[in-house]
Amino acid sequence: MNAPRIEIDLAKVEHNTRVLVGRLGARDVRVVGVTKATLGSPNIAAAMLRGGAIGLGDSRIENLARPVARPVAWPEPVARTLIRSPMLSQVSRVVEIATTSLNTEPTILAALDQAAIRAGTRHDVVLMVELGDLREGILADDVDAAVRFVRRCPALRLVGLGANLACQNGVVPDDTNMGVLSRLVETVEATHRTVLPIVSGGNSANVAWALSSTSLGRTNQLRLGESILLGTEPLHRTMISGLHGDAFTLVGEVIEAGVKPAQPWGQRGESAFGVLPSSAEPVAERGSVRQAIVALGRQDVDLEGLVPPSGFTVLGMSSDHLVLGTGDHVVVVGDEIRFGLGYGALVHAMTSPFVSKVEKQIGAR
Ligand SMILES: *Cc1c(COP(=O)(O)O)cnc(C)c1O
Repeated sequence: MNAPRIEIDLAKVEHNTRVLVGRLGARDVRVVGVTKATLGSPNIAAAMLRGGAIGLGDSRIENLARPVARPVAWPEPVARTLIRSPMLSQVSRVVEIATTSLNTEPTILAALDQAAIRAGTRHDVVLMVELGDLREGILADDVDAAVRFVRRCPALRLVGLGANLACQNGVVPDDTNMGVLSRLVETVEATHRTVLPIVSGGNSANVAWALSSTSLGRTNQLRLGESILLGTEPLHRTMISGLHGDAFTLVGEVIEAGVKPAQPWGQRGESAFGVLPSSAEPVAERGSVRQAIVALGRQDVDLEGLVPPSGFTVLGMSSDHLVLGTGDHVVVVGDEIRFGLGYGALVHAMTSPFVSKVEKQIGAR
């Protein structure tokens, strides 16, 4: 088979979705399945829908445009949310492809409105509120003006407020910052005598809070990517109990193997990408080590988040060569080595044109 390749177990993606949907559903929180780390893979999106996600989200309109087979007995067209603010240059595509988008800018809202009018359609808007992480979001004091603005746009429908924490500055979702979102929802509803059906509280970093807090307030939706795909929560990168961490495996092929001196010789300057990664321990100070080169490099994957099999050590990676210490394992040319992936490594490998994607329905163990 082709190498490098990512093997994707769709049954594990579905399982992870179902478990999260069940636990969060018990607390009246719905799940939007976020596909951006997978280039919007239609099969992964379909696995999320089978697992109970109420809709799909992606940061790129190109990904959202990929057709997804909805589960049998699915009542209506799948809700597709553009979770990054639309670009002004893309508003026509956005109203054509996305049912909903997350927004912060009046200029873009006005353009969306015009595009929706031209297309003879309506477009749902969630206004994103800044809760302290300082990525996207309207400052609390400006929310009312933004709400007024959307409500004056004939082709836009304000369906809710949302927020995003932890992505830019690692700000942890808690009752305090999430409480601000809920209070804003209530203020908007009271001021404008309306109901906001969607309160989209955040991403995978909100899962721990959503499963433990006794004051979820109005939050009734999370947009989940990493926790579904990798089974991890992003704040401490720990596994969420009952989820699979190995739905994605990167497979690389060995192109040189043997025993080499543990230490380089000759005068030394900088290597191609600087010094050894801090996580890499030299296998031995002196003597010889077994090493193997895998045809895998920085054009395929990030070193950070690339997890070699146990007993193997990453000695270094350049554009096209990954050098592994193989410890006691005897490895020969042509062998395949299987790696686990963290979020950064997953995103990089999924978007590399050199890595083929093999989607299978293998099944949870
Ligand atoms: C990426 C993203 C998500 C999903 O984040 P995960 O940590 O992968 O769950 C949700 N919302 C927004 C706005 C995002 O950009």
